[in-house]
Amino acid sequence: MTRKLREDGPIVLAGPTGVGKTTVARALAADPDRFVFSVSATTRRPRLGERDGDDYEFVSRDEFERMVNADELAEWARVHDHLYGTPRRNLTGRDGRCVLLDIDVQGAAQVRRNVPSAVGIFLLPPSLEALLARLSGRGTEPRDEVARRLRVARDELARVPEFDHVLVNDDLDATVEAVRGIARGAGGGAGSMRGGSEEAESLRRGIDTLLTRDFDILPG
Ligand code: ADP
Ligand code: 5GP
Repeated sequence: MTRKLREDGPIVLAGPTGVGKTTVARALAADPDRFVFSVSATTRRPRLGERDGDDYEFVSRDEFERMVNADELAEWARVHDHLYGTPRRNLTGRDGRCVLLDIDVQGAAQVRRNVPSAVGIFLLPPSLEALLARLSGRGTEPRDEVARRLRVARDELARVPEFDHVLVNDDLDATVEAVRGIARGAGGGAGSMRGGSEEAESLRRGIDTLLTRDFDILPG
């Protein structure tokens, strides 16, 4: 839903794990004059190919707690048993570039409270099948983890109405273009959707069915 146009605040990309937040954010950050990706701190271990300081700042539990106590994080949350947070310094001194946050819905709510100029975008998958394919296609998560992430996704989808814009991440280029439009203050254009609650509810019902009756079709 388009409730406000972008001012100078960060753009918060949220949505279920596997929906494509990182891919969209990275595609935008390929234009470094206009966009900058906020590298989060996390206590999770690096996946194959991930680099410290590039994908995440990989820190120990003690170091994360130190950052929280020193008020160095603009928001933080426990997601899938690990801690993730946005260093405050990521939000300042960006030379007029738009900061992109790829964070979960709890973090998005904190940013909305603390940074009034932030614009929230919720990404939806085009279908439950697409979400499953993207989750498992990454090939890094075992079956139990996929099921656990789907349960989290079900709860996250209930919070779609809290967001300023909802985009269906079907065609990647169209999604990237829609976020660019929002960053320009021009709204989401063709890719943007009003509300999105019905689509989110339908996905929630699909996840319920999958988790209770069709569990066998989960990868693993
Ligand atoms: P997230 O950051 O939301 O967890 P990722 O960006 O890691 O999701 O994407 C998960 C998978 O989905 C990746 O394999 C990525 O290449 C794929 N993906 C992302 N966007 C699209 C899209 N629009 N169409 C098809 N596949 C996509
Ligand atoms: P992953 O472990 O798959 O990279 O990310 C898991 C989830 O944590 C994703 O939903 C991602 O958006 C979220 N996440 C990543 N960084 C942050 C952060 O700094 N803060 C919060 N609240 N969530 C984050």
